Amino acid sequence: MKTYESLLDEVTAFSGQTRTILDPATGAIVGEAPIHDLEYLEQAVADAQAAQPAWAAMGHDARSAALLKAADAVERSAEELARILSREQGKPLNGPNARFEVGACAAWLRAAATIRLEPEMIVDDGETRAELHYRPIGVVGAIGPWNWPMMIAIWQIAPALRMGNAVVVKPSGNTPLSVLALAKVLNEELPEGILSVVSCGREVGARLTDHPAIGKIMFTGSTAAGRAIIKSSADTVKRLTLELGGNDAGIVLPDVDPKAIAQDLFWGAFINTGQTCAALKRLYVHEDIYDAVCTELTTVAKAMPMGNGLDENNVLGPLQNKAQYDVVASLVQAAKDSGARVLLGGNPDTTRPGYFYPTTLVADIDNNNPLVTDEQFGPALPIIRYRTIDEAVEKANGLDVGLGASVWSSNLDAAREVAGRIQAGTVWINKHGAVDPRIPFGGAKQSGYGLEFGVEGLKALGVPQVING
Ligand code: NAD
Repeated sequence: MKTYESLLDEVTAFSGQTRTILDPATGAIVGEAPIHDLEYLEQAVADAQAAQPAWAAMGHDARSAALLKAADAVERSAEELARILSREQGKPLNGPNARFEVGACAAWLRAAATIRLEPEMIVDDGETRAELHYRPIGVVGAIGPWNWPMMIAIWQIAPALRMGNAVVVKPSGNTPLSVLALAKVLNEELPEGILSVVSCGREVGARLTDHPAIGKIMFTGSTAAGRAIIKSSADTVKRLTLELGGNDAGIVLPDVDPKAIAQDLFWGAFINTGQTCAALKRLYVHEDIYDAVCTELTTVAKAMPMGNGLDENNVLGPLQNKAQYDVVASLVQAAKDSGARVLLGGNPDTTRPGYFYPTTLVADIDNNNPLVTDEQFGPALPIIRYRTIDEAVEKANGLDVGLGASVWSSNLDAAREVAGRIQAGTVWINKHGAVDPRIPFGGAKQSGYGLEFGVEGLKALGVPQVING
């Protein structure tokens, strides 16, 4: 049985160079993360190549059974994993945060294990018979961000393993301990070499993207890094799934009850203290109910405690790192400088340690303000007034990203009609950001391409092969 200390000891035991990981809530040392070098990465890729054929040969049923056992292992160590995640990432244990994220890891593993993927009969007319299969790719490289480090790693690892691939994971340098700890737990149930983590800097990690032995990169992170990966993977013509940045719009129609939707609006925007790819980042509210929505949202937001993640009362935490804190602070400053009206927060709290930025709501803001047009990725939501649906849709579609979006209305038909006009990979109705392992998820425009989750997500981790005859 692993304890928090023993698990942390296992992932920090390394004789080479290390990097000190600090708790973003307190500045205290969490542990020393290994800095793996290029030689380590090459070995991980070679081990994956060597182990993959036997894993593929086991077949779907045996691999699914192993993934179900891995889900059990995650549940056995859930509290230890949640504590490491909370200390390294900053997110509270409670609320839709660290324990929720570890629970999602088990849920996504189970879904990847149990979703059925049958060969498709494409033509069978007596003359021609053509069947579509999905074969393993080989070795998959998985590169992830720091906001949901465990859950996003599982989104990449689970379908890749299910489809018969081996995986080499490169976590964000901000949150390597969380991913190393998760892999330690998963590896209790997986054959050696099938899953490894290379905890390295960007330069070494970038080798995955042009490595001839890697057949596919699963990437989740910023649009800028996604572009770099497209370029560096070109020479080896790698398959890519790119889940990139977003700046999700929410449109509130005039027929809603502001009080009834305020809580869901809040969590749509502030889940993980706003550090979520598909969080609501621009809220468009019809002028008839604008003031009421602002008032109800402020009431809900005021009641949400922010602080150290290990304190069971908190549901909001710090920004994970100083760079992100500075982004949020400068975008809110730009909004204030423009004369926008701060409903809540808006002033950095310099009285306590940690990268805490107070929950901030900004009203009467111009649609071209940087707090609206740039991805804030933190606890600051701009609320924009609109008059007509056409105007709201045009503004929602006005950016070059389109990950998620939402429409809020008491009339589902009206909401669905508006949803169909929005350029985004997912449009939720009366909720925002509710991902589900059965339902495909991916971006439109420069939020990336390729789908994760569900049967489409499994297909994306296979090579389509037609058997004709
Ligand atoms: P980032 O792009 O800076 O880094 C993501 C990962 O890519 C890190 O592990 C980083 O080391 C690595 N990386 C960066 N450049 C690379 C390169 N050239 N080659 C190989 N690896 C490289 O992103 P971040 O700051 O960690 O995460 C925040 C961003 O991620 C936000 O824009 C957010 O919207 C996005 N995100 C998207 C999703 C989604 O599902 N679409 C989910 C979470 C986060």
